[in-house]
Amino acid sequence: MHDWLRTLWLMLDRYCGGFASSSFEDWIDRDTLAILKESWLRETSPLKYVVCPDCLDHDEEPILREYPGVAPKWFIPCPESGRVQLRPDELQQWQFDLEAIARTIAGTLSLSGPLSVEIPQKLWRLGRAPWQNRTREVWLLRDSPSLSRTDLKLALKSSRQAIVLTYGRVLPDPLWKTRSPAFVLLSHVSQWCDGKFSIDAMQLLEAVRDQDDMVCESMPAETGRVSSKRIRRQVKEEIASMLTDEAMVAAYFQHGSVRLAAEALSIQTKSEISKDKVYRALKRSGVEIKAPVNHNSCSVRRTVASQRCDNRKIISDSTDTVDWQ
Ligand SMILES: [Zn+2]
Repeated sequence: MHDWLRTLWLMLDRYCGGFASSSFEDWIDRDTLAILKESWLRETSPLKYVVCPDCLDHDEEPILREYPGVAPKWFIPCPESGRVQLRPDELQQWQFDLEAIARTIAGTLSLSGPLSVEIPQKLWRLGRAPWQNRTREVWLLRDSPSLSRTDLKLALKSSRQAIVLTYGRVLPDPLWKTRSPAFVLLSHVSQWCDGKFSIDAMQLLEAVRDQDDMVCESMPAETGRVSSKRIRRQVKEEIASMLTDEAMVAAYFQHGSVRLAAEALSIQTKSEISKDKVYRALKRSGVEIKAPVNHNSCSVRRTVASQRCDNRKIISDSTDTVDWQ
C-alpha cells in the first residue's frame, strides 16, 4: 500500500476539517490529488487565513482588491516581499467527503443492501457480505475521540458477527465480551494502484478469520458449550463460502491453473476449495480459461507473474501452456 493512504486513514480517524491544497503536496502526488478532488474531496468555503506562498513563514487574512475592467484579485501582506498576490487555488479549502469514501468502500466490496449512516461522521452500515448460507454486516468506523464505546456498542448491538472496517486501531474493550465484532484495519487490506482504490479480498478474509479466532479463544469456559474444534471448522467453512469470484479469478491468474488456484486457496483459507468452485467463478466472471495441451499432465509449465494490481489481465501468450485441471 502507498504510504499516503495509510497516512490518510490515520488522519481521517482524528480530523476531517478543512485543508488547503498545499497541505497535501508533501505526501500526495499531483495526479492522485486530482483524482481525490473528483471523488473523496469537496470544496468548502474559502480559507480565512492563507500561508504566505513567498516565505511560508506566516499566515494572513486575504485582502480583496477590485479593479475596473478586470477580475478581482486577492493579496496578503508579507514583511519580506510586500504585497503578495494569491492564485485562486491558494484560497481554496477542501474537506474529505466521508460519505463518498464510505460509498467507495462499499462499492469495492460489492456488498448488498443499502448504505446507511448510523452515527453521523463516525459509523456507517456499508451493507451485507455473503457468509455461509447467510450474511454478515460490514461497517465502517471512524473512531474519533468524541465517539463513546457505549454508543458504538449500542449501534452494533443488532448486527450479529459484524465486520467493522476501521480507519484506526480499536483497542480491546471489555464492553464487547464474547460478542465482539471482527475489527479490521483498512490500512491492512486496502491499497491504491493506478489511480484506483481497492481492497484485497483475501487479506480481508484472513483478517476476519484471525479476529473470529481471537473471539472464539477468548470465550469464557462457562459459555463454551460448543467444542473449540467445531468452532474452528465452522469458521473455516464460513471463510470458504465468503470467497468472492474476484478472489478466485485473482488466484487463477496468480497461479496459472484452476487446480493450482484451488490448492492455493485451500491452503490460504485452511478449507477445501474445489476446482469446480474456482472453475465456476471463472466462468461467471467471463474469464477465458486456457485449455491444457496435455490432458494427462498435472504439471504447470509456465509461471505467471503475480502482479497484484494487474490480476484481471487475460494471459495472451499463446506459446505458453496452462493446466486448468
Ligand atoms: Zn511572507
